[in-house]
Amino acid sequence: MSDTDTQYDDPFQRYSYRSSLIEELRNTGGRMQRGRVTVRTARTFGFCWGVDRAVAMVRDALRDYPDRRIWLLDQIIHNPQVNADFKDMGVRFVRGPFADASASEGDGSSQLSADDVVVIPAFSATVEDTEQLEGIGCTILDTTCPWVVRPHLRTIKYVEDGFTTVIHGLVQHEETRASCSLIASRGGQYLVVADQGEAERLCRVIRGELDAGDYLDSLAAGACSADFDPTEHLTRIGTINQTTMLASETREIEALIREAVAARDPAVEIAESFRELNTICRATQENQDSVVALAESGELDLLVVVGGFDSSNTRNLTRVGGGCFPSFHVLGPDAIEAGVIRHRCAKTGNTVSTDNWLPEGPISVGFTAGASTPDTLLGDVVEAVLRAAGERVDAAPSVS
Ligand code: SF4
Repeated sequence: MSDTDTQYDDPFQRYSYRSSLIEELRNTGGRMQRGRVTVRTARTFGFCWGVDRAVAMVRDALRDYPDRRIWLLDQIIHNPQVNADFKDMGVRFVRGPFADASASEGDGSSQLSADDVVVIPAFSATVEDTEQLEGIGCTILDTTCPWVVRPHLRTIKYVEDGFTTVIHGLVQHEETRASCSLIASRGGQYLVVADQGEAERLCRVIRGELDAGDYLDSLAAGACSADFDPTEHLTRIGTINQTTMLASETREIEALIREAVAARDPAVEIAESFRELNTICRATQENQDSVVALAESGELDLLVVVGGFDSSNTRNLTRVGGGCFPSFHVLGPDAIEAGVIRHRCAKTGNTVSTDNWLPEGPISVGFTAGASTPDTLLGDVVEAVLRAAGERVDAAPSVS
């Protein structure tokens, strides 16, 4: 494993991408007045400790291995700017959107050698990937977040006890793929449900209201283990969740499955056939709670959420933060102009433009950012919004 021994063990220290503007906002309780604009930030936002640590570990690897090729298995985190920055620094990508165009079919694993250093991202990696790297003899720098290890340990216990793991997660997300791979490697069964609607369909199968074969046919590719049989493998169920899902939805899903199992097995102690473990990470939970508190303050005219469009936790911040006022999920400052804002539509996932998004007169704009969003990027977005409103970050507060 890694011979980089740097520790990043202070959760209150920001190790990378520091922004003086954002630090000022943190030091002033998340409130700043610039002309007609009141800038508000959630109590906690942005880089979580796990992401900050992973980014800092890659940066250290560039310093510690100046004569060796450094590879990332895929994106280090779901933020285009951070990945592009590493690419500019000479880091190569085995696969994914930042993979070298010369890599065959987007997979550069055939180019790896024992002299290379390969970084496992904070989301973790599949068992197959890890075994391949070990087989090649690469130096592996494992930045897997400790919060991701927790559901992994629970799934191993489920497999040992004969429980099928139901994962509240996204089939294509690296963390969920790693969990599925781990379960399969131990001979266990898994099923991935993305949201409450999918959980309700699962519950209909558990209660015998939906044909098991039809249900199996309807599942997305990769959503269940290779030999998953609903008639056989839903007898005992244990739940976990991808660490960045919406916490309230995870609780709903757990409750739905528990009730369905209890309805099916009224004579059996529930613990015999159902177990649960909420594995939302603390940083994700705190960012969600903070944006809810900000939204409920009653002070906001609109909310701007900053982060990668494929970042699960950022998308969920938009879901919990949106309410009685417009909520815009943007990639960065380029999305913002005085007359138009380009943002991700939560319903379709497409990038859309909204005109006349900034109200006239005094306005209060809330900001938050996903766990993979650097402070520098959030700071640039705050400045862009101020410019769009005709204000400057160094302007004096208005007197009203
Ligand atoms: S969001 Fe949570 S689980 Fe993911 S890297 Fe950050 S702290 Fe770890």
